[in-house]
Amino acid sequence: MTDLLGQLYRLQTRIRFVHEREKRRDTVPPDLVEVDRDYQDKVQAVAALKSRLTEAELEKRKAEGELADHKEKLKKYQAQLRNVQSSREYSAALNEIDGVEKLIRSTEDKFLELEEEIEKARADLDEREKTLPAETEQHEERLKDWRAEQRAINDELASAREEIARLEAEIPPRDRAEFHRLVDKKHGLAVVLVHGSSCSACHVKVRPAAMQILKQGREVIYCDSCKRILYYEPASS
Ligand SMILES: [Zn+2]
Repeated sequence: MTDLLGQLYRLQTRIRFVHEREKRRDTVPPDLVEVDRDYQDKVQAVAALKSRLTEAELEKRKAEGELADHKEKLKKYQAQLRNVQSSREYSAALNEIDGVEKLIRSTEDKFLELEEEIEKARADLDEREKTLPAETEQHEERLKDWRAEQRAINDELASAREEIARLEAEIPPRDRAEFHRLVDKKHGLAVVLVHGSSCSACHVKVRPAAMQILKQGREVIYCDSCKRILYYEPASS
C-alpha cells in the first residue's frame, strides 16, 4: 500500500509538473508580449491579404462571366429590335436593352473596382512579403532566450512523460482509474501529504486511529474533510 501511494503521489507530482511546464512554455513572457503581438499582426496581415486576393480574383472572374452573359443578352435584344412587328414590341425590346445596358455598366464598374483592389493588394502583399523574412529573423532573435527555454522545457517534458507512462503501467488499472477520477474531481490534487497529523490540502486534523493505519500503510485512508487520499511520508511529518 505504501508503495502504491508513493507511486500515485509521484504520478500526481509529475502530471502537475507537466501542466505547469506546458503553461510556461506556451505563455509569451510579459516583456515579449508586445513585440510578439506586433510580429503576429504582420504575419496575420500577410495571411489576410492572401486570402482577400484569392477571394477578389474569384469575384473578378465571376463579374467577367456575368458581363459576357449580359453582352450576349444585349445582342439578342438588339436582334429582336430589328425584327419587331409593332410599336409595342419595339418599346418592349428597348426596355430590355435599357435594363441590360444598366447591368453591363454596373458590372463593368464592379469589375474595374476589383481590378484596382487586386492591384493594390498585390503591391501591398509584395511589399510585406519582401520585409517579412527579415522581420521573422529579427523576431526570432528577440525571442531566442525564450526559444531556448522552450526547448529546455520540451526536454523536461519528454522525460516527465516517460516517467508518467512508466508509473501508469506499473499502477494497477483499478487504482489508476480511481486516482484519475479523484484528480479530475479535486482539481489536480488527489493524493496529499500529511503534515504534523493534518491534511496538507485542507489542514483538518487526521483522527489518531486513521493516523495509526496510515503509518502502518495497511489501507488507503481518505481525509474526512476534503476526501482526498492521504499520503504519509515519515520524513515529511
Ligand atoms: Zn483534507
